[in-house]
Amino acid sequence: MEKVWITGHKNPDTDSICSAIAYAALKNSCGDVKFAYEPIRLGEINSETKFVLDYFSVQEPMLKAAVEAGERVIQVDHNEVEQAITGIETANIVGIIDHHRVNGIFTDEPIYIRIEPVGCTATIIAKLFKEKNYPINKTMAGLLTSAILSDSLIFRSPTCTAEDEAVCRSLAKIANISNLEAYGLEMLKAGSTLVGKSAETIFMADFKEFTVNDNLFGIGQINCMDIEGFTTPAKASVLKFMENKLTEKNYRFLFLAVTDIIKDINCRCWRCTVVRRNIHGYFYR
Ligand code: MG
Ligand code: MG
Ligand code: MG
Repeated sequence: MEKVWITGHKNPDTDSICSAIAYAALKNSCGDVKFAYEPIRLGEINSETKFVLDYFSVQEPMLKAAVEAGERVIQVDHNEVEQAITGIETANIVGIIDHHRVNGIFTDEPIYIRIEPVGCTATIIAKLFKEKNYPINKTMAGLLTSAILSDSLIFRSPTCTAEDEAVCRSLAKIANISNLEAYGLEMLKAGSTLVGKSAETIFMADFKEFTVNDNLFGIGQINCMDIEGFTTPAKASVLKFMENKLTEKNYRFLFLAVTDIIKDINCRCWRCTVVRRNIHGYFYR
């Protein structure tokens, strides 16, 4: 059977990995005799995602850095070329499931595209299971629950919608997660430790590139349990790293959002450039 690779973005996060795994399970259950759907990852699994995969005893997807011309690809949790697998320009994109802004999608043939303004790709994947009348098992429900908790910072992110929360709560029942807050915090904690990480690892962990009007810029973000844990030991070296990276690739600017996931659950703005409530932003331009 011909392979169809299902992939999230570069620097994979929990949504990219879990949505790829769950969507592959759904597609493979639909009785397609022509294609085999396989989730892949474009980089190392981060410590938060590792916690999730271990928790539900799921193997990490195969690492695949590039696709050859003509290979079939389904993109989840991204659509922009900067964030996609190497070789995407000549690959055969056959589907896109995403919750981000749309930028520059061109295809040769009609394809399945599902993009919704929700807080997480996993929310859309869960809806697709429902629409296809395919039951979500405990493991897949656990992965999708985790992805929504991750992208929404346990429903605290301004990108989180009522639908994300409702879908997440019903998935959590199937996954047997009785205390979403406790599970979510344990998961975020697993991904937020800065101890022993280099400036590069910290800044690049959730880094994405964007182009707007030919301006290339980059945004990284990290979660931490206490902002002092970032500002004291790591801040200076991370700022130095950003300064070097800015000139190295000629970015218009680089931005790092540092979110304190414990302090002030009421924050509704991460697009700020100054320290604001639980989000600290660092700009280089
Ligand atoms: Mg993502
Ligand atoms: Mg996402
Ligand atoms: Mg993310």
